[in-house]
Amino acid sequence: MSNNKCPNCGESVKGFLSNDLIQQSKVDFINKHLNQNKEAYCTHFSCSVAIFSKIAEEYRKQKKEMEDRLKQIIHFIPVITSPAPVKWDYNIIDMVTAQTTSGTGFITELSRSFNDFFGQGSNSTNLKVENATTLCKADLRIQCVKMGGNAVISTDIDFNEIGAGSTNMLMVCMAGTAIKVTDMTNFSEGRREIINEVIELTEKLEAINKEQ
Ligand SMILES: [Zn+2]
Repeated sequence: MSNNKCPNCGESVKGFLSNDLIQQSKVDFINKHLNQNKEAYCTHFSCSVAIFSKIAEEYRKQKKEMEDRLKQIIHFIPVITSPAPVKWDYNIIDMVTAQTTSGTGFITELSRSFNDFFGQGSNSTNLKVENATTLCKADLRIQCVKMGGNAVISTDIDFNEIGAGSTNMLMVCMAGTAIKVTDMTNFSEGRREIINEVIELTEKLEAINKEQ
């Protein structure tokens, strides 16, 4: 960052804390997926924006497979009702919440983010409480990973009936705290690998999603 120029394209930028540069997590993402080691990328259209669309273009071809795989393994992100185990080292990220309502269709952050994550037009009236719960948990997990976390703790679940008579709908609400467990040795090796895979898939899907 000498001379305040973007290390990638050479455009002049104001400095590390300015809006001219993309977030560190995005820098890491680009470096990882392009196998580069640049210190920063600027927000110029011909710089990070172009790079992101190139990456997204590549991943778009594998979108379906990535979504299927993510659906299979997303449950490896722990969602627990208790606080974090005492021996865990972690940083608190933020609160995460999710709601699903049967009878109206499932409009969640998750389905907004990854359009056909659960297949479009799923017949929500046939989904049972268990499915709603699973969806909520998946939603919490995706939100958590998107914020850079790898576990959700202190999770609370609520079931509510809304409406009356034959129009009854069931609403499932969940809230928890997304954390980043910093010492991954707290997880078994197998789980660690799959959690990293979840994080990577989420990053890729997000890159595609941003391009749409
Ligand atoms: Zn640049």
